[in-house]
Amino acid sequence: MIFEKISVGMGMTNCYLLADEVKKEGIIVDPGDEPKKIIDVINKVGIDIVYIVLTHAHYDHCGALEEIKTMTGCREVILHRLEEEVLENPELNLSPWISGQNVSLKGDKLVEDGDIIKIGDIEVTIRHTPGHTPGSISLIFDGKCICGDALFAGSVGRTDFPGGSPHVLRNTLDVVFKKLPDKMEVWPGHGPSTTIGRERKLNPFMK
Ligand SMILES: [Zn+2]
Ligand SMILES: [Zn+2]
Repeated sequence: MIFEKISVGMGMTNCYLLADEVKKEGIIVDPGDEPKKIIDVINKVGIDIVYIVLTHAHYDHCGALEEIKTMTGCREVILHRLEEEVLENPELNLSPWISGQNVSLKGDKLVEDGDIIKIGDIEVTIRHTPGHTPGSISLIFDGKCICGDALFAGSVGRTDFPGGSPHVLRNTLDVVFKKLPDKMEVWPGHGPSTTIGRERKLNPFMK
């Protein structure tokens, strides 16, 4: 398995590349900015991008979506059913504040909690982890969890943007993240990676 973190843009968003090195198929998660930097990593590892997956549709996570879709010729942009409206509505995706422009984008395939995305022989399980936005998702595979802006090392995502809810995020922590095994690696949408065990000890929101 190939797994790379690519930090992009002013907000230092973590874009991820996940690929099956045998089948030469991969996905890009959260192409937030700097398409050329992302394409350079894709070319370096030499794989076909089959999907783009969005943990959520804030513009700092999808700002390079169109460029990456065109440049890779990937099949589909995947996001949660409840996040489609965020991607399409500039008031919700925050593009006017992040880029100075109203941007409305489209997805192709909508997923739900428990759905599985196959990338070569890798199975990625989708968990619905709302609170930061209504349709935030986490991707779970091979002892790793890509969690977008739901959970960070030592903290959690903001809940004061349109569609955010501290109550819903609290429930996500209880029913999803606190139930994951201690050794599971956590790869957030910004900042360093951590583990569930470490967050259980140090993160006040995981108590
Ligand atoms: Zn966000
Ligand atoms: Zn973010």
